[in-house]
Amino acid sequence: MLSISNLSVSVGDKPILKGLSLDVPSGEVHAVMGPNGAGKSTLGYTLAGRPGYEVTGGTAAMLGEDLLALEPEERAARGLFLSFQYPLEIPGVPALTFLRTALNAQRRARGEAEATAPEFLKLVRAKAAELRIDMEMLKRPLNVGFSGGEKKRMEVLQMAVLAPRLLILDETDSGLDIDALKIVADGVNALRSPDRAMVVITHYQRLLDYIRPDRVHVLAGGRIAASGGPELALELEAGGYDRYGAAA
Ligand code: ADP
Ligand code: MG
Ligand code: MG
Repeated sequence: MLSISNLSVSVGDKPILKGLSLDVPSGEVHAVMGPNGAGKSTLGYTLAGRPGYEVTGGTAAMLGEDLLALEPEERAARGLFLSFQYPLEIPGVPALTFLRTALNAQRRARGEAEATAPEFLKLVRAKAAELRIDMEMLKRPLNVGFSGGEKKRMEVLQMAVLAPRLLILDETDSGLDIDALKIVADGVNALRSPDRAMVVITHYQRLLDYIRPDRVHVLAGGRIAASGGPELALELEAGGYDRYGAAA
């Protein structure tokens, strides 16, 4: 699903990623852990195509297609979804309108017909019911005045509606209480599927108690410095990142 080879990325002329290689097969959930400032978000933003992240070497492919040659919206249309650490608040735009706009943008980019209003509502009602989200909440402006838990439910609903192929969660757990953490974990676990892959970026092991990764990778020094099974996350929790030469 995702194949990254020798990727080097600079931000404002500062090299951040220095020959990072990572393969995530379909059907798997991989965790990327690392100290603050290691370049975890840089990796997510580079894959999503955010301006300002300059690729100076290497390749990144999704299902065999060169991701780096695609515009950000083309990447989204192919099924790449990056969830942000800080959810967007959009005063004046009801959550429902935001969801429909996002879904139809994806459909247009794929050359598919837009969802009609009844078709869209049917889809959202079904997903909202699964996630125990009150439809009334979705009439309010996106994330404005939502609690931490409600924002996370909204994020998970967005993922469920857009049904990404490759899902990257960037420290979506930071600052969450246990209840909100479980909402995210349940949502992510429900999205596990043989034709989908997920990359869970996290600084702490805690989230991985609820989302059990198939593989755990350590990002340090601008590359994947170690890889292992779920037990690696526990070792990191106990031993920290120092032995990987935390400074990039
Ligand atoms: P992480 O997500 O692992 O904490 P980041 O990818 O956010 O790390 O940051 C990696 C490094 O890149 C840090 O040293 C950070 O200061 C730097 N960096 C990130 N974004 C920018 C930017 N827009 N301008 C300059 N430096 C940046
Ligand atoms: Mg950080
Ligand atoms: Mg980060």
